[in-house]
Amino acid sequence: MFKKRLFTPGPTPVPERIMLKMANPIIHHRNPEFKEIFAELNENIKYLFQTKNDVLTLTSSGTGAMEAAVANVINENEKAIYVNGGKFGERWGHLLRVFGGIPLEIRKDWGIPPAKEEILDLIKENPEVVAVYLTHSETSSGTVTDVKEIAHEIRRISDALIIVDGITSIGAIELRMDDWDIDIVLTGSQKGLMIPPGLAFIAVSERAWKKINKTENRTYYLSLKKAKKALETGDTPWTPAITLIIGANEALKMIKKEGIENIWQRHSKLAEGIRTGIKALGLKLLSKSPSNAVTAVLMPDGIEFKKFNDALKYEFGITVAGGQENYKGKLFRISHLGYYDELDMISMISALEFALHKSGYKFEPACGVNAIQKFFLENL
Ligand SMILES: *Cc1c(COP(=O)(O)O)cnc(C)c1O
Repeated sequence: MFKKRLFTPGPTPVPERIMLKMANPIIHHRNPEFKEIFAELNENIKYLFQTKNDVLTLTSSGTGAMEAAVANVINENEKAIYVNGGKFGERWGHLLRVFGGIPLEIRKDWGIPPAKEEILDLIKENPEVVAVYLTHSETSSGTVTDVKEIAHEIRRISDALIIVDGITSIGAIELRMDDWDIDIVLTGSQKGLMIPPGLAFIAVSERAWKKINKTENRTYYLSLKKAKKALETGDTPWTPAITLIIGANEALKMIKKEGIENIWQRHSKLAEGIRTGIKALGLKLLSKSPSNAVTAVLMPDGIEFKKFNDALKYEFGITVAGGQENYKGKLFRISHLGYYDELDMISMISALEFALHKSGYKFEPACGVNAIQKFFLENL
């Protein structure tokens, strides 16, 4: 017997209840049966984003929604600020360049979130910027940015659109689109939404629609105007990933039932449990501002990543994410995003102890498991 356990920040595990819904025979997307499901999804997804704005469904991975948030918004030679503090923040810069915008980069070391002053100063030097692109939870470094405060400060001095990659924060970390006055928020299906990859969701404010309506059309498949027009009749412009929409609808029912505040609270608790176990083992986090969706842990000195990772993968069936770019082989990332509970986290720390032991790391046996168990007992 070999049981597999997925601890990556996308794809994330899919609840059995959702898999069963998606196992039903395919239905046609212009049938009333589908329209009913899609209408229900369109209502409940607003709750997930904490918005009254329409949330558009795109058949693409999360990056498709990022591309839509640039292609529909930025005209050639318009300036936009973005924060590059990891692989996903950097992606905003690539997209801005592809669509002919002028990207103004705020570069941060991995693990350090941007300070509001850096963003405000750049806006004051370039008052013509049309948008500020942020990454709420930078998955490559496991770092959370204080989007609430930054959005509040930007709004006091500028009408620039505030555009947030919420791909590992939606459904995990507090994000209130309307209360925080954010213009565009987007996510992908294989993260906090707990379904397989293939869908992206993008919420658009009134202020953002005004800009989009003045922006030259440079995308067809990812046109937000087309998606909005179709949504007015309860449709999508193209054949959607029907099966995934059925899955997402079921996921949203689960999310509504648990309650979004409870979900944020659960993620906070699981993340803190993992961090407690990690620290007890004498390991260090990469981030100075750790995300509640994913924890990036530095490989201890002298321990080979491959040996450690192979033990996790082939002996315990556990997949974690490795480090990217400069951190390849230097860190591993444990996801606690989506369908997880306390026992999953304890198992993860337990497996970590086995794999660390196998790869030659010295520690007091069971000190990690002890610490996480104690943390959960004290925080029932
Ligand atoms: C996963 C992820 C993406 C990319 O999403 P894809 O679905 O792989 O296109 C973008 N941003 C963040 C923060 C992510 O975690």
